[in-house]
Amino acid sequence: MYQHRWWGGESLDLPNAKAVCVGRNYAAHARELNNPVPTEPLLFIKPSSAMVEMEPQFSIPSNQGECHVETEITLLIGSRLRNVSAEEADAAIIGVGLGLDLTLRDLQSELKRNGHPWERAKSFDGALVLSAFVDRENCPSLEDLSLSLELNGRLQQSGSVAEMLWSPLDLVAEISRSFTLEPGDLVLTGTPAGVTALRQGDQLGASLCNRWSARSEVL
Ligand code: ZN
Repeated sequence: MYQHRWWGGESLDLPNAKAVCVGRNYAAHARELNNPVPTEPLLFIKPSSAMVEMEPQFSIPSNQGECHVETEITLLIGSRLRNVSAEEADAAIIGVGLGLDLTLRDLQSELKRNGHPWERAKSFDGALVLSAFVDRENCPSLEDLSLSLELNGRLQQSGSVAEMLWSPLDLVAEISRSFTLEPGDLVLTGTPAGVTALRQGDQLGASLCNRWSARSEVL
């Protein structure tokens, strides 16, 4: 069973009920999928049953079309948030990690075309691949966070909070207007451009702020 843990190994005594995710928080990624840049955050939820460890390996579904990887700065929430301000959101974020929002892109396109919800493409078992979390005290300030993904030794994705349409604090505040966030919940802040299909045997290296790196193999 998946359990949140601190970078370095110690497991966190917090539940992991849900992750709230945002689509199209980087304008460049919205454009690469030919989506309009949204005027308010497009939100969806991944349940705890979707969560798996990033290291040392994770598996992707087979025979369901392309499975894309979206690398995302992931916020760990430490207290209950309901309809809060950005300042209150700031005080409640206790850790930062990396999440891979796995997406069955062919299936998602079909669901979108038919006007159906995305869950089967976004919230299946194993669809949220998580690194450990860096304690907020050891992390750069939220405005200075960045990420990168290397795929088979080549830079595939890189992005930073500066490129986001909604900052982490604005995003958490906005989410809390619709969904109460509980201790242990996660907020995924969207993916930069460069999403691509994964294949079995791929070697991934995901980095937070060029300082904390997680390695993984796709099974
Ligand atoms: Zn995503």
